[in-house]
Amino acid sequence: MDASNIFGKILDGEVPCHRVYEDDHTLAFLDIFPLSFGHTLVIPKQRCAYLHELSDDSAAAIGRVLPRIARAVLQATGATAYNLLQNNGAAAHQAVFHVHFHIIPRVGDAGLGVGWHPSPLAADAAAELCGRIVDAL
Ligand code: AMP
Repeated sequence: MDASNIFGKILDGEVPCHRVYEDDHTLAFLDIFPLSFGHTLVIPKQRCAYLHELSDDSAAAIGRVLPRIARAVLQATGATAYNLLQNNGAAAHQAVFHVHFHIIPRVGDAGLGVGWHPSPLAADAAAELCGRIVDAL
C-alpha cells in the first residue's frame, strides 16, 4: 500500500487532525472537506488500503467503536440520520488508500448523495453466486 498517504501521516503525527477519538487500534477525526457538519472519519491504525485486507482484530476494533462514535456525532450535531460509507478502490470513489469509514450526518439536503439503481436478481444466478461466495469464505 501507499505508506505515505495522508492518513498515514496523520497517524504518524506529521499532519494535524481534528481528533475526536483514539484507542490502541483506531483513530477518528473530522473530515477536512465535509459533506455535512459532523462528517467524521474512523480509521484503523493497521496500515491497509482496503477493508478486505484488515486483520480480524483491526476489523473488530473498528466495529466496536463505530456505533459509539456515530452516537456522539449525532448528539453533538443534533442530526438524527446519517450514512456510513466505506469506499474500496479508485473505481469506487476511494481517494485515500488507507481504510476509512465515513460517518456522514444527513441534515436537510446536506450529506451523502446516493445514486441507487437496483435491478432484479434472477433466482438461478443468485443460487450459483451464493455457492461461489460460500466456497470462497
Ligand atoms: P474517500 O473518497 O473515501 O477516499 O475519502 C477520503 C476522505 O478523506 C475525503 O472525504 C476527504 O475530504 C478526506 N480527507 C482528505 N485529507 C484529509 C485530511 N488531511 N484530514 C481529514 N480528512 C481528509
